[in-house]
Amino acid sequence: MDKIKTDLLVIGGGGAALRAALEAKKSGSNVLVAQKGIGSTAYKVAETAGYNAADGQVDPLDNIEEFYNDIIRAALGMADPRLVEALVNEAAPSIKFLEELGVPFERDGGKYLEVVGCFAVRPRMHIIKGHGEPIIDALKKIIRRQQIPVLNRVMVAKLLVKHNRIAGAVCLNLESGQIFAVECKAIFLGTGGAGQLFRWNHNPVDITGDGYALAYRTGARLVNMEYMQAGLGFTTPVRSNFNNWIWSGYPIVKNNSGSSFIEKYLPQSITVQEIMDAKSGHYPFSGRDASKYIEIAIHREIQSGGGTPNDSIVIDFAPLLELDSAVLPDHLVIKKMWPMTRDYLISKGVNLARDRIEVSTFGHAINGGLVIDVNGMSTVEGLFAAGEVAGGPHGADRLGGNMLLTCQVFGARSGKAAAGFVRDNQPVDINDNLLAGEEKELKSFFNDQGDFSLPALKKQLQTLMWSNYLVVKNEYTLNQCLSGLKQIENNLEDAQVASPAELGLRLEIKNMVDTARMMCSAALLRKESRGSHYREDYPDIDANYGKPIFITENNDTMHITFGSY
Ligand SMILES: Cc1cc2nc3c(=O)[nH]c(=O)nc-3n(C[C@H](O)[C@H](O)[C@H](O)COP(=O)(O)OP(=O)(O)OC[C@H]3O[C@@H](n4cnc5c(N)ncnc54)[C@H](O)[C@@H]3O)c2cc1C
Repeated sequence: MDKIKTDLLVIGGGGAALRAALEAKKSGSNVLVAQKGIGSTAYKVAETAGYNAADGQVDPLDNIEEFYNDIIRAALGMADPRLVEALVNEAAPSIKFLEELGVPFERDGGKYLEVVGCFAVRPRMHIIKGHGEPIIDALKKIIRRQQIPVLNRVMVAKLLVKHNRIAGAVCLNLESGQIFAVECKAIFLGTGGAGQLFRWNHNPVDITGDGYALAYRTGARLVNMEYMQAGLGFTTPVRSNFNNWIWSGYPIVKNNSGSSFIEKYLPQSITVQEIMDAKSGHYPFSGRDASKYIEIAIHREIQSGGGTPNDSIVIDFAPLLELDSAVLPDHLVIKKMWPMTRDYLISKGVNLARDRIEVSTFGHAINGGLVIDVNGMSTVEGLFAAGEVAGGPHGADRLGGNMLLTCQVFGARSGKAAAGFVRDNQPVDINDNLLAGEEKELKSFFNDQGDFSLPALKKQLQTLMWSNYLVVKNEYTLNQCLSGLKQIENNLEDAQVASPAELGLRLEIKNMVDTARMMCSAALLRKESRGSHYREDYPDIDANYGKPIFITENNDTMHITFGSY
């Protein structure tokens, strides 16, 4: 097998990976970036992105302690306080850094535009138009200027670990089919989340949970994998987030036959207006308040046949079209954000008065991932991680605007720490026979006579997880997921694989299966509802389950247990 040598291999091309690569290079390391090269979740998946920092510009009572307390409150006991502390302290400097690179944060009357983000109490969510794209573009520019080599369309297929130390990685060029090894002293994982697990999601096609699965197979420790966030999104005529502030304008929600249906799913004591008011406070689905009935009602209506052929429901924007932002009270986020949302939808060709607008439940982001220390090191020596693939800075719920922030704060910390690690450590030898075995195994997956089509298997998995896991789950549906995943895994053995891209897809589906299995196993163990984890058979929070769930693999067996950081 061909080999490339470097100090640090950075996997991914999103905000976390690019920031880590940059900091490691600045600290003197040889860095190589490898990315599957289709996209990053920060690339225009919504009209705006939120990015938190407690600078007190808009609310003088806001400060680092308030920010810390908001995160801990939202996390419901599931976050690592050491990571939260680092995050809140380094948030404002990270905005300054990005601004120096040219990332435009929106302004309002000479100050930053800051609104109250999901699950937060005070306005501190800074707004970037074009979602996270300006961050990625700015980082890419400087990566090019620093001449950091980037391998595009290269998928990391396996992490090589010896005696719990990183030794390198096996890579697949998705275009040429070349299989090669990278020998390195450290690896940074910036592989993002696993949105592709669900039939509806806003993620690029390559966000398939690879990082969780690759790390799991090395024996690394993962946490909070049951906290997969769901949210609402437009399915037609445009694909975008259905942001929470829209609910303050009380849009009309109908099923495929044009009838209102939400009332059917509400307890008698709660009104539709009350749940919309609650929903306007946070985008992700959460069992913590009455807003949950919106996603539950939509999910149930679709499951019981009331949805459109698109597995969606219909939203009538008429009440918002009459909205006069000027007369709305200042504390409502819709006042500042609706004009941006409206203009964005119009710019995408949506006629809010006439088009049939459909909305469904989407896989959003995972609040869990690899356990890391404050410098981004996982429980495997030399394996660093940050961004959506890492767990600990968030918990059961996550403040909206904190994920792009963790990418920058822990991306930078990891890059610096990884540079220190490669300075202080010798490389670990990789045995040529082992590499030959890895290559042989990858090539053995080629099978042009296979009975199963990879796209069909992926679709089957996405439907399984969307229907049985995403919003409403119970013991039965979780077991349905686990048995369905087993079947998909078995069928993968006889899948048709005829090109390098298909080999990549086969590896991705296996990663999706392993990631989904971690999520389902953790969700089965957590017999309660807490934040983004909602079980209809245990709908309340239960103090007996107040600890995070940790997952490791040993001898091909999953070990899953409640524990502490
Ligand atoms: C609709 C939507 C709206 C959001 N809005 C916000 C917001 O307003 N504020 C906020 O803070 N967060 C938001 N998030 C979350 C946030 O955008 C993501 O969590 C974040 O962008 C993830 O960044 P990342 O650097 O961890 O990974 P990503 O940006 O997802 O990048 C992952 C990279 O890894 C590469 N990769 C994956 N596997 C491999 C492999 N095996 N080999 C090589 N390369 C690989 C991919 O190609 C990609 O380049 C939103 C998410 C969604 C879906």
